Amino acid sequence: MSISAETSLRWPEGFHCPACGHAKAWWTGRGVLHCARCGQQTSVTAGTVFQDTHKPLRLWFRAMWTVTSQKHGVSALGLQRVLGLGSYHTAWAWLHKLRRAMVRPGRDQLSGAVEVDEVYVGGERPGKRGRGAAGKSIVVVLAEEDGAGIGRIRLQRVADASGQSLCGAVRQCVAPGSVVHTDGLSSYSGLAALGYRHEAIRKDPGEVGENLLPRVNRVASLLKRWMLGTHQGAIEPPHLDYYLDEFTFRFNRRASRSRGKLFYRLAQQAVAIDPVPESSLRGGKQLD
Ligand SMILES: [Zn+2]
Repeated sequence: MSISAETSLRWPEGFHCPACGHAKAWWTGRGVLHCARCGQQTSVTAGTVFQDTHKPLRLWFRAMWTVTSQKHGVSALGLQRVLGLGSYHTAWAWLHKLRRAMVRPGRDQLSGAVEVDEVYVGGERPGKRGRGAAGKSIVVVLAEEDGAGIGRIRLQRVADASGQSLCGAVRQCVAPGSVVHTDGLSSYSGLAALGYRHEAIRKDPGEVGENLLPRVNRVASLLKRWMLGTHQGAIEPPHLDYYLDEFTFRFNRRASRSRGKLFYRLAQQAVAIDPVPESSLRGGKQLD
């Protein structure tokens, strides 16, 4: 990675000293820029996900390349091996930090026509075993209809299958006025009142006919396969959200011809998000 590539990711409009606004600076080494006018020193990694890293930045770039160059991503053990990291925990923490960069801040809502269904994941055997399966997490799958195919997706973990939770997930992920296709579960009946054109496809929520919402079922089965395959099901419930973000990031860029673009997008977002303190990684994200 050249110096200019590092700085153009960090400062897309060009470097400006945060103290005096001057555009000229020189490198003092270890990612520190020295302002040519006022002498202020600015770390290229300060205020990014790479802040406080004790490893060379180029190792981070190799990590991002490893994560984006493989179709299904990489496990912590896999990353540790590829980078030759001494510690499994470091590889694990890096993957978690990068996952946080995989959600674009302020990303757009889905629109047009969107299929919505909820799926139960985690536990011994992921899968939809009827609503209310114990010990599993409930994930709302939202998939844009693009002709017969799938447009963009969102995955949203919810606390339960209540109307408040399921309609809340739709409200967060889908633009008002969109057509929303669900099954006949009564929890979705509040969607019309929220400004959606709601069409319930399935009359009987107990029915097994999974093909009525083919896009969300396809996404759900790919998600389950990915969780069991790449990560061998070893996903702790508090961290599930970040895995969902990674899956979404990959899925929504599945048509990208060039893996390099995926890499560049991840690098851009990694410098755009706030630092992730090590202490926040363990706990995972809490639901309200
Ligand atoms: Zn300055």
